[in-house]
Amino acid sequence: MPKRDSSLPPFRREIERIAPYRVATAPHLIKLNQNESPIELPARLRRKILTRLDRTDWSRYPDYPAEELTRRIARSNRVAMNRVLIGHGSNELLYSLALTTLERRKTIVMPTPSYPVTALAATLAGATIRTVPLLDDFSYDVGALVRAVREYEPRLVFLPSPNNPTGTSIDRIGVERILQAGRSLVVVDEAYFQYSRIRLSSLLRRHDNLVLLRTLSKAFRLAGLRIGYILGHSEVLSLVERGKPPHSIDIFSQIAGEELFDHPGIIDREVERTVRERERLRIRIDSLPGVRVFPSDANFLLARFPDGRRVYEALLSAGILVRPVGQAPGTPRSLRNCLRITIGKRSENRALLHVLADYMMERRN
Ligand code: PMP
Repeated sequence: MPKRDSSLPPFRREIERIAPYRVATAPHLIKLNQNESPIELPARLRRKILTRLDRTDWSRYPDYPAEELTRRIARSNRVAMNRVLIGHGSNELLYSLALTTLERRKTIVMPTPSYPVTALAATLAGATIRTVPLLDDFSYDVGALVRAVREYEPRLVFLPSPNNPTGTSIDRIGVERILQAGRSLVVVDEAYFQYSRIRLSSLLRRHDNLVLLRTLSKAFRLAGLRIGYILGHSEVLSLVERGKPPHSIDIFSQIAGEELFDHPGIIDREVERTVRERERLRIRIDSLPGVRVFPSDANFLLARFPDGRRVYEALLSAGILVRPVGQAPGTPRSLRNCLRITIGKRSENRALLHVLADYMMERRN
């Protein structure tokens, strides 16, 4: 770590251990690096949202805590309103969960590899991070997680399912075993759950130490606005809310979210399309010589190449941006040479396959 200029004001030591979060941007490329939906919301729905936004006072603070949106999310999940907490994207809620439960000498247990933002939030809270490696095929090692919960008695257990960047899930039985292993708050981050078959919400009725974290950035196609929410026990949510800045859900996000939850089924076709494309792409990429694709329950695939860096560059020079997940310092060895590829439009996926097939063939010859 570089030594800081001693004339600068003092900061917390943890901050120096956190690398700022950065993602490559590429305005004119086929963008398959951030697990967004490639398909915009229907134009009529966009216009309706904009018309409502135009009739709103922008000089006034947004409603806090977003009562109408909370009502609609509660209704669509068939829970009471006090079992829903909305945030500025699920990232904000991850920070609130970390900051309200963790502190120095307290522990978070999480799998590795997994979603890096959680480790950033836990580091910011000053906590100890205990990682439990996924198995070789990136499936969850439930036994090891149960042992870690018993041994470390963590304040927080983080289970992204489907996991990012692997696409693998933990099933209900696995989650229940972890819930029963201790008193820790167990956060299942369900950012991609609509693309999988696993449904965990019925567990909420039996386990007060479970919360489900959701986002509107993926299947709901609203990553450009910022909406996430937590489902869980009302008293747990009331405590987590205290770690959240007020008014963080702006007027635009509230209106758009309300309209989306007013259109049940709006995500169904898009999810079906994505899952169909994912399976088509998985089979095709997996058949390329020397490439391994891991089964995914999400809107992306993780693939291991003989030389991930070169494949990344070959794709980039063909105008296709994917995520090189194995390169950042400190990433687990299991991700070496791996690329994470978001499922794009059919034409984009076709272009990707072409470049990959050409590259792998050339390499062979
Ligand atoms: N959790 C996981 C597992 C994710 O992959 C992401 C987005 N990449 C998020 C949370 C954050 O989503 P949001 O846009 O709601 O902040």
